[in-house]
Amino acid sequence: MGRVLITGAAGFLGSHLCDRMLKDGHQVVAMDNLITGRRSNLEHLDSKENFEFINYDVSEYIDVEGDLDYIMHFASPASPIDYLKIPIQTLKVSSLGTHNCLGLALKKSARIIVASTSEVYGDPLVHPQKETYYGNVNPVGPRGVYDEAKRFQEAITMAYNNIHGLETRIVRIFNTYGPRMRLNDGRVLPAFIGQALRGEDMTVFGDGSQTRSFCYVDDLVNGILKLLMSDYSGPVNIGNPDEITISQFAEEINELTGKNRPVVYHDLPTDDPLQRKPDIELAKKELEWEPKVGRAEGLKITYEYFKSLSQEELFAKDHNTFEKYTK
Ligand code: UDP
Repeated sequence: MGRVLITGAAGFLGSHLCDRMLKDGHQVVAMDNLITGRRSNLEHLDSKENFEFINYDVSEYIDVEGDLDYIMHFASPASPIDYLKIPIQTLKVSSLGTHNCLGLALKKSARIIVASTSEVYGDPLVHPQKETYYGNVNPVGPRGVYDEAKRFQEAITMAYNNIHGLETRIVRIFNTYGPRMRLNDGRVLPAFIGQALRGEDMTVFGDGSQTRSFCYVDDLVNGILKLLMSDYSGPVNIGNPDEITISQFAEEINELTGKNRPVVYHDLPTDDPLQRKPDIELAKKELEWEPKVGRAEGLKITYEYFKSLSQEELFAKDHNTFEKYTK
């Protein structure tokens, strides 16, 4: 068992990683500057002996007292409306923030895993996406700040591996869902479920024929842990290849919630990928990993979480995420 620094610990994925690392017997140093993360995601861990929280921006020089065995760099705004709102912080956290984490890993002789993304494939012309595909990214479009920062993150991580012999791992994360997603983060699942719960129309962008492949968070966390503990240093896709169109997804959310909300169509945001599905053969071979939780099961658990939110949270003044795409 070791001591791990998790950046972005108060976010959706970060908080689930904290839970898992503590459960596996590690000591967790959780770091977040709470721009998009929420302290409430970690409150259930505050009383634990092996857990500490540091409110800090990883884009600034970082140091952590004591030994570290692992660093998990998961800090970053991760939804399109977040990175539209704070593009410079988005660029900094995956470039400067990654550099700081790599430097710290080197100093502490720690193994590091960085959170990359299916967005490195941009609007992919190859389908499904294999790790060997170089991608189709518009560097100066609205999503470029995220996509290019993550591509730089992969490049500098590989350079530290090659030049310094640092133990590095790169996970390319595809669309993931589950409890603790932010209701107002603008992503399609919280958007549709929030709209259903508030009795609003469901906003489908484009004609709804674009596809995504959604992975339940527990499956993703299992894949990340398997990769961290493996000796494979190249990028690995972790995601669920069960592909669905966004129109079908709206229907599924209507069935799940029983709210039967009408669907309204809006323009597709700039550079919104038309198709996305991970090829997971590499993860199967190298990690013996594949997702286990089907969408029906995962969505049910996730819906219970959103139902448990207060009316205040549900109707918070920034709940209309659709407007944020158009402003
Ligand atoms: N989307 C939608 N309505 C919404 C929010 C998103 O139709 O209210 C679409 C969006 O245009 C995209 C897909 O759902 O095609 C997934 O969007 P999300 O922001 O969840 O993730 P990403 O585009 O990063 O995969």
